[in-house]
Amino acid sequence: MSDCIFCKIAAGEIPAIKLYDDGEVLAFRDINPEAPVHALIIPRRHIATLNDLGTADAALVGQLYLAGKRVATDLGVADSGYRTVINCNRDAGQIVFHLHMHLLAGRELGWPPG
Ligand code: 5GP
Ligand code: ZN
Repeated sequence: MSDCIFCKIAAGEIPAIKLYDDGEVLAFRDINPEAPVHALIIPRRHIATLNDLGTADAALVGQLYLAGKRVATDLGVADSGYRTVINCNRDAGQIVFHLHMHLLAGRELGWPPG
């Protein structure tokens, strides 16, 4: 998608602080962190929302979570704890319509979220 900011990050057209890349899944730091650790894990392929995943994407979803675990381990927050969140559409506050998983850590995270 030519006008998608995360496709541009995946293509290297917009800079980002990369944390992980296995060719299919990419992780980078959120530009506006809500916690000391705030990473975004995305599929390289453009998928707009969680609603657009199909059964053929099951392995890809697993890769997103495994990449999240890897990033949490690499950043030293796997034991202290972290949260993964995928916002879907308006009520969840999704603003970038390229599927992404947030990984938040480094402070006590309130529950339930706002
Ligand atoms: P959403 O609300 O869609 O789940 O979250 C989108 C996230 O993308 C936000 O946390 C926002 O700070 C982040 N973001 C938006 N534009 C950019 C960008 O150009 N670079 C990076 N690294 N993060 C971005
Ligand atoms: Zn995209």
